[in-house]
Amino acid sequence: MPIIVQKYGGTSVGDTECIKNVARRIVAEHDAGNQVVAVVSAMGDSTDELLKMAHEIATDPPERELDMLLSTGERVSVALLAMAIHELGRTAISLSGNQAGIQTNTVHMKARITGVETGRLIEELESGKIVLVAGFQGVSPVEDVTTLGRGGSDTTAVALAAALGAKLCEIFTDVDGVYTADPGIVSDARKIDAVSYGEMLEMAATGAEVLMLRSVEYAQKYGVPLHVRSSFTDQPGTWIREEDEKMEKAVVSAVTHTNDESKLTLLRVPDRPGVAATVFGALAAADVNVDTIIQNVSEQGTTDISFTVNQSDLPGAQKALQAIAGNLGVAFLIDNDMGKVSIVGAGMKSYPGVAAKMFGTLASAGVNIEMISTSSIKISCVIKRGQVEKAVRALHQAFNLAKPA
Ligand code: ADP
Ligand code: ASP
Ligand code: MG
Repeated sequence: MPIIVQKYGGTSVGDTECIKNVARRIVAEHDAGNQVVAVVSAMGDSTDELLKMAHEIATDPPERELDMLLSTGERVSVALLAMAIHELGRTAISLSGNQAGIQTNTVHMKARITGVETGRLIEELESGKIVLVAGFQGVSPVEDVTTLGRGGSDTTAVALAAALGAKLCEIFTDVDGVYTADPGIVSDARKIDAVSYGEMLEMAATGAEVLMLRSVEYAQKYGVPLHVRSSFTDQPGTWIREEDEKMEKAVVSAVTHTNDESKLTLLRVPDRPGVAATVFGALAAADVNVDTIIQNVSEQGTTDISFTVNQSDLPGAQKALQAIAGNLGVAFLIDNDMGKVSIVGAGMKSYPGVAAKMFGTLASAGVNIEMISTSSIKISCVIKRGQVEKAVRALHQAFNLAKPA
C-alpha cells in the first residue's frame, strides 16, 4: 500500500472545528487505500503564546527548557486530532517526535534531524492505524527534547516522507499554494503551478515562509515530491519537484521578502589574512547563520565589514562578537531595522539586465539599497524594514508577475 505523508500547519488546526475538518481529510485519504502519516503543527498562534509566557518569566530563558515548553504545542494538536479520528470510527495513534523516531543533534531551538528510526511508525502503519506525529520536535542523543526552528513541522513531514519512502508529501496550509509573492502583501499575486527544488530553495531562503528552508533541502536531497495546497479547499496547489520541460522557467518567478534582518558592522577591522575567518568562525561556533556580507575597500590597513543575521540570531551574534572584539581591536554597530527583498527565477541565469531592472525599479520607488547579494537564480537587496512592502509591490509589478485581470 502506498504511503502518503501529510502536514497540517497551525491555521489548519487552529480550533476544534478545524481539527475535525483535518480529521475528515485524513480519513478520506486512508479510505482511498493509502497508509497515512500526518504531521501537525501547534494550534493557531500557540507557539508564539508559549514563547511570550517564557519571556514574561525570564529575560533569557534556557533553551533546553524552551524546547520542553514549545514541544507541548504540537502534542496538544496531535492528541486532539487522534480523538477526532476515533470519533469518525477509524483507528489513529498520536506520537511525539521522540516516539516517532525523529533523532536530532543537540542544538536546542534549531536542531537538525540526524536520522529517523522508522520501526515504530512501520509497525503502527502495518497494523492498519493512521499515524499522527507531533511536528517540529525530536530527541537529542542525550534524550532531551529538541525543536527544529520556526516552521519546523514542514521538515518533520519531509524527513518522514524520505525515511518511509512515501510517494508524496502534501503540505496543507492556509493559502492555495506557493505564490509569486506573499499573497498577504500583494493582492494580485498568482499561484504557481509547479516550481523546481532549486527555485523553491531560493524562495524559502529569502523569506517565502510557506515552506521552511530545511524541508526543501531535505526534499531535494531525497527526491521527495512536495505538493503545497490549502487545507480548506480541494483545489490543486503547487508542485515542487525536479526541474522539467513543463515548468515555466520564467526570468523572474517570484518576489520574496523578510522583515527581520539585523545588520552588524564591524569598524576598523585589521586588513590581514585570518581576521574574517576569526570573526565568522566565532559566529559559526555560536550557531549564528550569517546572510549577506560586504567588506569595504581598505584604507590605512583597516576596513569595515557589514553582515546581516536574522533578528532571532542577534543576541548570539552580539555575544560572539563581544568575546573577540577586544582582541581584534574592533568596535561594532547594530542596525536592527532592516529587511530584504529578493527576486528569484531560473531564467535569469541566461538573461542579462535583470539586476539593472531590479535596481531601477527600487530607485523609482524611492527605496535605498544598503547591501546586495546574488546567486545564479536570485538577487537580494537589504533595505530598511519600513520600505519592504512598497518594494515587493513595485518589483512584482515591474516583472509582470500579477495574475491577468
Ligand atoms: P503554516 O502554519 O500552514 O505552516 P505558514 O504561516 O508557515 O503556514 O505559511 C503560510 C503563509 O506563508 C501564508 O499565509 C503566506 O502569508 C506566507 N507566504 C509568504 N510568502 C509566500 C508565497 N510566496 N506563497 C505563499 N505563501 C507565502
Ligand atoms: N509550531 C511551530 C512554529 O510555529 C512549528 C510549525 O508550525 O511548523 O514555528
Ligand atoms: Mg509554516
